[in-house]
Amino acid sequence: MPYQFDPQSHRYRDAETGRFVKYAQVLEVVDQEVNRLEVRLKGHARLLTQGKIHIAEFQTRMAQNLKESHLRNASIGAGGIKQLTPTDYGKVGAELKKQYKFLNGFGQDLAEGKLTKEGAIRRAGSYAKSAKTSFFEAEFTSRGKVGFYAKRLLDAQSRHCQSCISYQRLQWTLIQLVTPPGIDCECGGRCRCRLVFRKL
Ligand SMILES: [Zn+2]
Ligand SMILES: [Zn+2]
Repeated sequence: MPYQFDPQSHRYRDAETGRFVKYAQVLEVVDQEVNRLEVRLKGHARLLTQGKIHIAEFQTRMAQNLKESHLRNASIGAGGIKQLTPTDYGKVGAELKKQYKFLNGFGQDLAEGKLTKEGAIRRAGSYAKSAKTSFFEAEFTSRGKVGFYAKRLLDAQSRHCQSCISYQRLQWTLIQLVTPPGIDCECGGRCRCRLVFRKL
């Protein structure tokens, strides 16, 4: 993270200019992590389809990379790795547990020869977006401790799943009562639901 966290405003500052960094720029860092993760995960699937690693090794690598990216993104959400609390680690753990369960099913499908090479690579890559959820969860937890309110708005350009529509909050709502994008959602947070924060 090239930025410095300011706990008062719960925003990042550019280390050189001292200026506040736009929320969109923070999300960009998170998205970059997701993109790098996707490349790594697909890489493991490619090695698997080339017969260079076995399914168990593939799953171990997937799990390891997922864990690292979830933790990195949670750190960004919380304002730095030192800001991560047991609650944050608990939420990352729960999210990872869900992913590992999918990974288990993935391994079974692979063992039964149910997937084409391209299908396996695509499916491996699809795990990456889950790491964005850990950013939002940590951010919400952290802002919740200092009394933030939030709105969750639908992006007019995106298609929305039913859950996202029900999670929309047009009024300032105590952040603990707002659902972070990607949580319990069919779209997995790919819909670009927009968040605005405010301390009242
Ligand atoms: Zn959704
Ligand atoms: Zn959404």
